[in-house]
Amino acid sequence: MLDESGVGSLLPRLKDGGYDAERVGRRRRWVEQKTGASLQHIGSPSFDTAAMRGNIENPIGVAQIPLGVAGPVQVLGRHANGLFYVPMATSEGALIRSYERGMVALTRAGGVQAAVLEDENQTAPTFFFSQVEEAAAFCEWAPLHLAEMQAEAAATTHHGRLRRLQCYQAGRQVILNLGFSTGDAQGMNMIVKATDAVCRWVAGNYPIARYLLFSGMCSEKRPSGLLMTRGKGKRVTAGALLPHSVLKMYLHVTAAELFRVWQSTVMGHLQAGAIGYNAHAANGLTAIFIATGQDVANVVNAACAVTCFEPVEEGLYVSITLPALTVATVGGGTSLPTPHEALGILGCQGAGKALKLAEIVAATLLGGEISMGAAIASGEFVQAHERYGRNRPK
Ligand code: NAP
Repeated sequence: MLDESGVGSLLPRLKDGGYDAERVGRRRRWVEQKTGASLQHIGSPSFDTAAMRGNIENPIGVAQIPLGVAGPVQVLGRHANGLFYVPMATSEGALIRSYERGMVALTRAGGVQAAVLEDENQTAPTFFFSQVEEAAAFCEWAPLHLAEMQAEAAATTHHGRLRRLQCYQAGRQVILNLGFSTGDAQGMNMIVKATDAVCRWVAGNYPIARYLLFSGMCSEKRPSGLLMTRGKGKRVTAGALLPHSVLKMYLHVTAAELFRVWQSTVMGHLQAGAIGYNAHAANGLTAIFIATGQDVANVVNAACAVTCFEPVEEGLYVSITLPALTVATVGGGTSLPTPHEALGILGCQGAGKALKLAEIVAATLLGGEISMGAAIASGEFVQAHERYGRNRPK
């Protein structure tokens, strides 16, 4: 909103960032007065607003998104084992009912096997040289000095570990792709800090012209082909055999009908030039990410996932593989009050739980994939949305 001078007023700068209830209220009233909007619900957080420090600037309250629960889904994972009821925050009617249907079908089928296959986040600074040959020489030098770079990185974090590096030269530039383990954190703050230390060490020990901390190659919050092969965060897979009886009773389709939907939509994805193939992984990811305090923009990389349906004699084998699932149970928004409670529903609060969360997420998403496919195959898709997902203005 513009003020009388036409340039707009700056928000009031409040002491210490203004996280206590009094200052949050003062800022909110300033916005109400400037805009004429009433912010009753935004202004009704149930927790101490001081907890928002580190997660947001200029706080004025809370965005309250409906939170539901879907399940049960039985997960037979390496880290997650048991029946889970999964918290999902969304405003898309029919979404939770759809996931629930698929999750129950998977559970009645005997459960979902799940496994985290890789766990490594990455950064990718660029180093600049004056000629191709100098850049090529750097690509030979850098791997020989991994140990020193590991020591520099380790000095910045207790939980992050630099595991490997790979050089990608283009002309006289070299992108240094660094792979880190990040414990139970998503890790971007952690590993960017470590990467900064590595870059400074390189700059002090090798004649580079200059460097930039980010190249974009790490595909943080961006879709890319690299994510499918190199991965990012957790590479996790989940699969189950759906017997004919379960397909009929819970999903109202035959194996052949559901396979046909998968097969024909693969063609659609190919023609669209899609990265990965899935029905609607972003739906479940976004809802779980909001509920559990993940960085929601990471849905962009996490949704580069591949769903596969294979007809077998007993029914249909279904699976989903997520090569770039960046989820955490420590850090970011995970200890804010409602995410912390939501992680508690899954038994995933705090240290030692990130891999378990990743397997639960994969199993849940598989439920959404089979349910969506079945709704299309059986012709129930529009009907389900009409029943659960409409909100015409009164
Ligand atoms: P963080 O909230 O900044 O830091 C969490 C810290 O918790 C870790 O750095 C670690 O400290 C500590 N920790 C304690 N127990 C741990 C355990 N069991 N496992 C792992 N760490 C443990 O979170 P972050 O994960 O580093 O960064 C995620 C945040 O970065 C998100 O909020 C995201 O929005 C933001 N982000 C930042 C960038 C960026 O470029 N900086 C980019 C995208 C997103 P130690 O390191 O000392 O071990």
